[in-house]
Amino acid sequence: MLIRTYKYRIYPTKTQQTLLEKQLCLCRWLYNHCLEQRRNAYEKDKTKISCYDQIKEIPKLKKERPELNQVYSQTLQDVIRRLDKAFQNFFKRVEESKNGKKQKPGYPRFKGKYRYDSMVYPQSGFELKNNKLNLSKIGSLKIKLHREIKGNIKALIIRRTNTNKWFACFAVEINQELPVKPNIKNIKDKNILGIDLGLDNFLTTDKEEKIDNPRYLKETEEKLARVQRWHSRKKLKSKNRNKSRIKLARLHEKITNQRLDFLHKLSHKLVSNFQFIAFEQLNIKGMSKNKYLSRSIADASWARFLQMLIYKAEEAGIWAIGVNPKNTSQICSGCGNIVEKTLATRIHKCPKCGLRIDRDINAARNILNLALNTLGTRGINACGVEGIPLTLKQEALRR
Ligand SMILES: [Zn+2]
Repeated sequence: MLIRTYKYRIYPTKTQQTLLEKQLCLCRWLYNHCLEQRRNAYEKDKTKISCYDQIKEIPKLKKERPELNQVYSQTLQDVIRRLDKAFQNFFKRVEESKNGKKQKPGYPRFKGKYRYDSMVYPQSGFELKNNKLNLSKIGSLKIKLHREIKGNIKALIIRRTNTNKWFACFAVEINQELPVKPNIKNIKDKNILGIDLGLDNFLTTDKEEKIDNPRYLKETEEKLARVQRWHSRKKLKSKNRNKSRIKLARLHEKITNQRLDFLHKLSHKLVSNFQFIAFEQLNIKGMSKNKYLSRSIADASWARFLQMLIYKAEEAGIWAIGVNPKNTSQICSGCGNIVEKTLATRIHKCPKCGLRIDRDINAARNILNLALNTLGTRGINACGVEGIPLTLKQEALRR
């Protein structure tokens, strides 16, 4: 079973927008209220309040604060589930830090004004009819259904962007059988691909092709860095600061759209041209905490790109295999020898077999070899795939 998200722009009227804002505000209040409750309980007598306990309290809260009735009741329950998830993640991080993994766990935080921007309708409370979205307690909303929803709608998320646009995101369960992937034995060598994701070039393939971030994207990113510096110099809570906040949000939105467009096209191209694609599994935990903007953008792009690649491959019935990134840049793709190098070393030179190639191409070849080997030796056969023939592996090594 597949879960896909369909995202559509919605156009609330002024009145509806006020209602939606008010509901977000009430959800945020509930979130912070329940967070405080848990915090106090823990600090006073080390007790934990469960998700279930807090959901049970909602009717009582509604009596004390009748305006909560303006929000669909399942949406309120979902606020508490969201908080509970934040706590579960927190406890998980606490456990991890005990086990010696360094990350310092941060306690779930209170949500500020601009930090609460979505509401969930987990099962009901909404209906799509005659090109309108009917929302409980809001009414009939104008929606731009630019593509048809295929499958069963499981949930709806209403989201507001920083630039005050509204979106409806439907989580849809797709009931279709996935296409059967081709037997690896039958895939021609020209249809297998290894890719290495990098900072200098977005992507390098084992076939010596390099794909860079598009120029327009670089330009907008440079502009973003400038506006961000400008923004951070503004006084907190000043009028100018608010202005630059909106400017910053618009730029972020533009960049996100441009980047998504680039990633969609690239992943689509790869999936249409190859039947077996090997990539490096990213260490998601190690990412995202980087203080350099360019690096954090790259991290986010890689993660998103792989996500797209995986689901597009799934739908197209081709192989997309992630491998452990350990040593992929150090191993010699020609002979298996380890050739240590720093990030600054751009050329892989092997003293043992004499191979001399670009380091990223070398890495892409190693990634491909690893994926082919994994499929040949590990239990992926369980999915009905026969082990790959040695010749293909040797071919991969040779190239
Ligand atoms: Zn070598």
